Amino acid sequence: MVKENIPTAANFIAAIISADINASKNDGRVLTRFPPEPNGYLHIGHAKSICLNFGLAKDFGGLCNLRFDDTNPTKEEQEYIDAIMEDVRWLGFDWEDRLYFASDYFEKFYEFAVFLIRKGKAYVDSLSADEIREYRGTLTEPGKESPYRNRSIEESLELFERMKNGEFPDGSHVLRAKINMASGNLNLRDPVMYRILHASHHRTRDRWCIYPMYDFAHGQSDSIEGITHSICTLEFEDHRPLYDWFIEELELAAHPQQIEFARLNLSYTIMSKRKLVRLVADGHVKSWDDPRMPTISGLRRRGYTPESIRDFCDRIGVAKKESTVDMALLEHCLREDLNLRARRVMAVLKPLKVVLENYPEGSVEHLDAVNNPEDAGAGTRKVPFSRVLYIEQDDFMEDPPKKFYRLAPGREVRLRYGYFITCMRVVRDEESGEIVELRCTYDPETRGGNAPDGRKVKATLHWVSAEHSVKAEVRLYSHLFKKENPAAVEEGGDFTANINPHSLEILHNCRVEPGLAEVLPETIFQFERLGYFCADRYDCIAGRLVFNRSVTLRDTWAKILKKG
Ligand code: ATP
Ligand code: MG
Repeated sequence: MVKENIPTAANFIAAIISADINASKNDGRVLTRFPPEPNGYLHIGHAKSICLNFGLAKDFGGLCNLRFDDTNPTKEEQEYIDAIMEDVRWLGFDWEDRLYFASDYFEKFYEFAVFLIRKGKAYVDSLSADEIREYRGTLTEPGKESPYRNRSIEESLELFERMKNGEFPDGSHVLRAKINMASGNLNLRDPVMYRILHASHHRTRDRWCIYPMYDFAHGQSDSIEGITHSICTLEFEDHRPLYDWFIEELELAAHPQQIEFARLNLSYTIMSKRKLVRLVADGHVKSWDDPRMPTISGLRRRGYTPESIRDFCDRIGVAKKESTVDMALLEHCLREDLNLRARRVMAVLKPLKVVLENYPEGSVEHLDAVNNPEDAGAGTRKVPFSRVLYIEQDDFMEDPPKKFYRLAPGREVRLRYGYFITCMRVVRDEESGEIVELRCTYDPETRGGNAPDGRKVKATLHWVSAEHSVKAEVRLYSHLFKKENPAAVEEGGDFTANINPHSLEILHNCRVEPGLAEVLPETIFQFERLGYFCADRYDCIAGRLVFNRSVTLRDTWAKILKKG
């Protein structure tokens, strides 16, 4: 790596790496890794870690591995592995041929364990799990040594081998590191290294019935792979002395440097996998990739782009201090990205029929509409206009309050790319009294949206032609939780109490421009005046249009309403 090309440090971790390169540490090499445990789908917090690990490697001319820390066979599944790989790729990162599994190192870990027993640095303990917990002490009280702690090396070696051979039931013995039961750091009070677990592993099948603890696997995996900078979240700060202890006692040559950063917390969102699993298992959402989920696959299905997520991760930066990022920032990043790229179209979510009484029956015009005002190259398209149209129910009020400028009886407004129309009469359903139709007139002189006499209108409405438009289902999503911090619950309460019962509203009778009839899944549009909408990845198929609202546009009327 050429030193002149080292980028200026974007954050404190980049500064550390930069200094390491300057000092020729690790021969100037940079190798990071993203180490998920395959026990759930990746979420936006993981995206931060992915962008950081792959991003730093790229910035410093290094590489980043993908490694599954798969040490817990009871919670891990192939489905999660597949989903994780798909999500990392979709985000735009590539581990090339550097795909690793901690389970690939099980043999090595076993040898490491034997090495520590031989050295007198590990022993088989035969206390029960409850007893071990009891003996562990607390933050204010030192722990107590197990009566098995001074068992002979030979006895521990023999028991450990018999543990491996499947001679003992789960929970009857564990292997522990012999460090210090009085340490102020609880992680150093003879932590468990191995436990007996008669469970089949998704990769090693029934080869093992003892499994290493995460803390005995993680640091060694990094060392085996020659990771230079092990970047992880703050909760591992207290584990660092233990990881260092293992690597030193194992006399391993490669000693990765662990650097901790604050995890991402996002308002109106939970990030704990344990809780996300529950949302899916208990049916609060439909699946891991439900567009309300903070998972990468959920965000994708909602209409988030890899670019917007990477931009978000860039903007939130990296710090040493916990904080909560406002969900509005994530939404902002999506709007910024889509504003430049998304094609504008017209769609009416809650249709109200408009009949133009003076428009010739049976006649159709094809009006020019701009595809994207932010991108001249996107060109224009033709939109059919005819005597019977749909506008949005919300764009009409029979008795409008002061600041409502849209359509009302006797009032003139502009139809986007079309004509000025004036509302002459309201037609009601005889039984329900509901407004079912507006009878209007149009001014043929205003084609394209301007009056030759210079008269102005205060509102421009979107619309579709009744006969030409296509039916669509639209799913309106809002926050999955009512509270900014969903984890904050009354004593004895559960986070599910904070679930927003109105996070999904499905509209079945929406109408969209005919040009959308053949839309491909995952195409994102701006529905003019409404927001950005994404053709659902799975449910939008030929003959059945389904759109997810990704994010709204800012609605000034809603703000006025709010202010009361
Ligand atoms: P678990 O409780 O299952 O360990 P986890 O969220 O830590 O959950 P991992 O699969 O271990 O999940 O995480 C993989 C990597 O992503 C780790 O390096 C972890 O530090 C990082 N990570 C997890 N959550 C966040 C978050 N909210 N912000 C930033 N990084 C995160
Ligand atoms: Mg973890």
